[in-house]
Amino acid sequence: MRSFNEFLKYGLVKKKKKDEARAKSLIESAEKRKRVMEKYLPLNSETSAQIIEECYDIIREFLEAKLSDDGYKSYNHEAVVSYLGELGFLKDEIIFVDNLREIRHGTKYYGRLVNEEYARKVKNFLDNIYPKLNSLFKQSKNIMIDVHCHLDKLIEEFPLEKALKNAKDNNVKIIVVNGTDHKQNLIVLDLAKKHKEVKAALGIYPLDALKLSEAKIDEEIEFIEKNKKIIAGIGEVGLDLKEPELLKTLDKQKINLTKFVNLAIKLNKPIIIHSRKAETQTIELLEQLKAKKVIMHCFSGKMSLVDRIVKNGWSLSIPANVHYSQQFQDVVKRVPLSNLLCETDTPYLHPLKEWPNEPANVIYSYKKIAEIKNQSLKEVEKQIEDNYNQLFEQ
Ligand SMILES: [Zn+2]
Repeated sequence: MRSFNEFLKYGLVKKKKKDEARAKSLIESAEKRKRVMEKYLPLNSETSAQIIEECYDIIREFLEAKLSDDGYKSYNHEAVVSYLGELGFLKDEIIFVDNLREIRHGTKYYGRLVNEEYARKVKNFLDNIYPKLNSLFKQSKNIMIDVHCHLDKLIEEFPLEKALKNAKDNNVKIIVVNGTDHKQNLIVLDLAKKHKEVKAALGIYPLDALKLSEAKIDEEIEFIEKNKKIIAGIGEVGLDLKEPELLKTLDKQKINLTKFVNLAIKLNKPIIIHSRKAETQTIELLEQLKAKKVIMHCFSGKMSLVDRIVKNGWSLSIPANVHYSQQFQDVVKRVPLSNLLCETDTPYLHPLKEWPNEPANVIYSYKKIAEIKNQSLKEVEKQIEDNYNQLFEQ
């Protein structure tokens, strides 16, 4: 049998734009076919032909799906089967599928009889190859990550289950929910325990922290530390000088932030930083404290500060409103992909200026980054997943 590359050379396989939608519908069809095939069981002389036919078609649809997802197209059966070689399947397996095609052709179009024993072999072969095809496909599938949102604040306006389902349907597989005070931290922890895609980051929002006594802050630090096995990171914490009169609270804000930064360093967890109108002061403090695993969320400071963040080896998480925001588009242009993460800040900052935002919309960040960096969405997803793992995996 010819190799996949030869088919490519002869033009029986064409290089096309990757077609994820086609891949998805083919996989769905293969899965449906498998359920149909199972209805023919137990296998006997009457059902043998049906089972052979379905088994071949399941494998073929998976292969066509994989081809579409990898940016190829072919209607030639041999060429499609040859892709198994490209995917690392064994020669015996390729020959088996190739023979299966012949047999299936004979039964389907010429009414040839089928050996029941052979049908049994085919069924066993499918049982063996099906999970491999399936996992191969899933492995190649990247995921999207929302590294900063407030799902806890969404609950009242928009059902949580809907947000989680939309996220799942859109391949957003990791959602880092950030707490902003003790009450929210409890909710965030609970969400993380109940939903495996939800990761907890606990912290106290700088303006909320101002309302607390030092003892209360210390209590919260202790509480967070006690949950160190459950939490993914520290956040949302930082400095906020959105109004000029907040300047007189700066010292207190710095004392508070210092506690959280030291906690993050002690626990070796990433820290998610808010720095509205206090960008320079925040960066200075983080540098003094020698923080390493830093994520600057929605960073809106000057480009010279953006450069400083990158130089420090920190990350910037780009909100979905980069879709229209020139400020964030400029940040994306300026910052290497290896320093970028994506977020929604749900329920805020909706990419289409609606309310509320939701984690599924993180795709807007990914798409804009891919567009600006002139890279495929898949490459961007992969790199950002690597960035995330580097920061969050312990
Ligand atoms: Zn936030």
